[in-house]
Formats: sequence, C-alpha cells, structure tokens
Amino acid sequence: MARDFSTDPFWRVAAPLTVCDEQSPPKQADVVVIGGGFTGLSCARRLAQAGRSVVVLEAEEPGSGASARNGGMIGWGHRARFSSLAKKHGPAIAREILAEARRSYEFTTSLIQDEGIDCRFQVTGRYLGAASQKHYGELAREADLLREEVGLSIEVLTKADQAREIVTDSYFGGLLMPTHGALHPGLFHAGLLNAAQKAGAQVIGRTPVTGLRRDGDDTIVETPNGQVRAKEIAFAANGYAGQFSEALRAFERRLIPLPSFIIATEKLGSNRIKALMPGGRMYVDTRSVHSYFRADPDGERILWGGRASLNPITPTVAEPRLRGHMASIFPELRDVDVSHSWTGRIAYTRDTIPHIGKLDGVWFACGYCGSGVAMAPYLGWRMAEKILGTPEGATGFDTPAFNPVMPLYNGNPWFMRAIEAWHKFLDWRDGVRPAR
Ligand SMILES: Cc1cc2nc3c(=O)[nH]c(=O)nc-3n(C[C@H](O)[C@H](O)[C@H](O)COP(=O)(O)OP(=O)(O)OC[C@H]3O[C@@H](n4cnc5c(N)ncnc54)[C@H](O)[C@@H]3O)c2cc1C
Repeated sequence: MARDFSTDPFWRVAAPLTVCDEQSPPKQADVVVIGGGFTGLSCARRLAQAGRSVVVLEAEEPGSGASARNGGMIGWGHRARFSSLAKKHGPAIAREILAEARRSYEFTTSLIQDEGIDCRFQVTGRYLGAASQKHYGELAREADLLREEVGLSIEVLTKADQAREIVTDSYFGGLLMPTHGALHPGLFHAGLLNAAQKAGAQVIGRTPVTGLRRDGDDTIVETPNGQVRAKEIAFAANGYAGQFSEALRAFERRLIPLPSFIIATEKLGSNRIKALMPGGRMYVDTRSVHSYFRADPDGERILWGGRASLNPITPTVAEPRLRGHMASIFPELRDVDVSHSWTGRIAYTRDTIPHIGKLDGVWFACGYCGSGVAMAPYLGWRMAEKILGTPEGATGFDTPAFNPVMPLYNGNPWFMRAIEAWHKFLDWRDGVRPAR
C-alpha cells in the first residue's frame, strides 16, 4: 500500500463531500425525499422546478452512499439479459425494459449538459471481456439479439481483435459498446446537489428518517432532529435502506444490499496504462465475481473494482483481494502500490431489474443492481413525474411486480455464502480461470 493509503473513495480528492450546515428539518413540506444520492437529488430537483416544497433528508452527508463511491461508468445496459427478460416477460416488455436503459443514458447525459456539470464526462466506449470460450459464444449471440431487437450499436471482437482494446490473455474476445461513457461520480454528485438546491430543494444532512406515520392524508416523518408533515414521501435510500432504521422495512425486504469494492493504484503514468488498455475504454468482464476497471479521469492510475466479497469486509481486507484480481488480468501490476481502497453498497432485486412505483403509500425508485449512474438520476426524475401526476411518470418498469426477495427475508442476506459458492461453481463449469 502507498504511504498515504486511504479508505475514503479516491473521488473525494477532487470532490470532498459537501457538509450541510442545516440540520433542522422544516415542520412541513409537499414532499420528503429519503436519501441524498443520485435518485433523491434528481427527484428533488424536478419537484422543486415544478414549484413543490421539497426536503431531502440524508442520514449522513449527501453523497455518503453509492452515488459518490462508484466506478463512474455510465452506459445503457441491464444486469438482466434480453434473452432472459424476453423468456420471462415476453419480447414486448423486454424491449421496453431495454429501451429504458437507453433513455436513462440520454436523460443523464443531457442533465449533465443542461446543468453545465463539469464531471469529466467522456464518451469512451465500454469493453465487456468474455472470461471463457463459452461466455464468448453467449455474448456473440446476445449481441445479435440486441442489434435486432433494440438497435444497439455493438461490436463483437475476437481474441485477436481484442488486442487493440486490452492487452491480456485472460479474455476470449468480447463486446464493444462504443456509445458508453465515463465520468467522475464525486463531481457529478456535487453538481447534481447544486442543481437540486438551485431549483429550490432543501437538503439536510445527518438526519436519518427513523419513522413514518400516517396522519389523515399526510405522513409524519420522524427524525432525531424533529418531525416533518409531508403530503408525499419518496424513497431514495437504495442499498442503504436498512442501515439507519427499521422504518423502511418494506424496501429492505425487496432489496439485497451487496458490497462492492474499488482500489485506486498509485500513479502509474499514462504510457504504462495505455500499453495495457490501448482502447482507453471502461472495462468489465463476465466472471460471476466480475471485475470492472478503468483509468482515472487524468489517465494516470487504474481504478479496479469488483466483488472482493459478497459479505461486508473492510476496505483494508478487500485491498489485496482486488490487487489479486487485477494481477490475474495484468500480471505486471502484481506489485504496484495502492493509494485508496473503499467500499459501497449496491441494491439487487430478485429479478435483477430496477423498480419504481408506490408501496404502502411511499413512492420509490431503486434496485439498479450495480448500474445506477445513468439509471438512478433517470428514475429519480420519473419518480418525481409520478408524484406530479404527469404522463412522463410512465416507465417500462411499471409492469414487472416488485416482489420481496423471499418469504421471511428482512434485509439480512444470510444466503450470500451459498451464492458465493454457487458463483464459483458456475465459473468452474464455464471454464473461467479463477481470479486469484
Ligand atoms: C463501489 C460501487 C461501484 C459502482 N460502480 C458503478 C458504475 O461504475 N456504474 C454504474 O452505473 N453504477 C455503479 N454503481 C451503482 C451506483 O452507484 C448506484 O446504483 C447509484 O449510485 C444509486 O444511487 P441512489 O441515490 O439510489 O443511492 P445512494 O447513492 O446509495 O444513496 C442512498 C442514500 O440514502 C441514505 N439513507 C439511507 N437510509 C436513510 C434514512 N433512513 N434516512 C435518510 N437517509 C437515508 C444513505 O445515507 C445514502 O446516502 C456502483 C456502486 C458501488 C457501491
């Protein structure tokens, strides 16, 4: 590890968290938004623009959650494959769900432009490396489907073609999505916070919502810093729903909070990075315990993310595991120093697609399954439109039901060890070389 090793996200070097001065919520508001990440801020911005009084209550500081901790890869794609969505819901709904992914990318990139947010956004393209010959065949078939069904611009690269994108023996070819991009999530979050506040939303930090109580047509929102009477409530706590109180139990039962981990290497120099990743893309792979990696916005370091564990472990424990994953793709990086190692929570759903709607009187948008940089601001906006009662509230996610993960599940994913073992088995079966 580097001498200045930190377990804060690398992004905070350029974008320290904004500390909210104000901590007393108002007595009443049209809408209380729970959570100050991309979903909550985007929802609040739209509601404030429409003239609603809106207060965002954030348990820590805005950006403490996944939104200012992620890999900054922005694209259109879902965890669920078109083929499995079509099998489950029929091709029409599957097409609509995929179309939402494209709309989310268009919405969020326009938002960045309209608000003039300087977050180092760039269209870099994304490369998805196939971790086995079997995965390569599956990817090539999925690419054909995506081109035919949703007109996605996508290129299939053989192992020989791949050398122009990434120099490794570990992938058997892959898919190139040239329209995907990269941004600095800390700067994007700070810009979105500023945009929501500029529109008139009040954002209050260190104020967890600890209770929700119906009172006639209103809801009384309880916090350690006082109560707020609100006409509408918007849930935007995603993978952190269970961390601060039991008030959000209905959502905890529907979301699986999974830790994801990232390390930043010491400065390696742009030439060394270009020699390994000549395509300059965002990179992900198909291993069950997958890796995602990229250069930092200055092109000097590598940021390497992945599932160092499916259970919460500290960033210090995760660091050598991620370095091992990195060395399995780029053996020459085995001994580089690491300056930052951090973790955050993503929220999975039972059917691996996001959900939006109203549950027990609370509006919600959540469950991005690790792909929320474009989707969370987008569904935050759609949730605001639902609250405003406009036609723009309709989405392709309105049909699939938002079911609990399983009976008696209360937000503690006790089954993760079994899933971890299952993933290892799948990789072994598919001929994937182990990451470590
Ligand atoms: C390490 C990591 C890497 C990722 N990489 C990518 C990537 O490269 N590309 C991509 O598309 N997606 C990525 N994601 C996913 C993406 O970051 C999330 O989908 C997205 O940020 C979710 O935004 P959100 O606003 O819904 O939730 P969050 O940003 O998690 O915000 C939820 C907030 O709610 C607050 N909260 C919780 N409970 C309460 C309460 N009771 N009262 C008040 N506030 C509360 C929390 O403190 C938190 O700040 C990654 C996630 C992680 C963790």
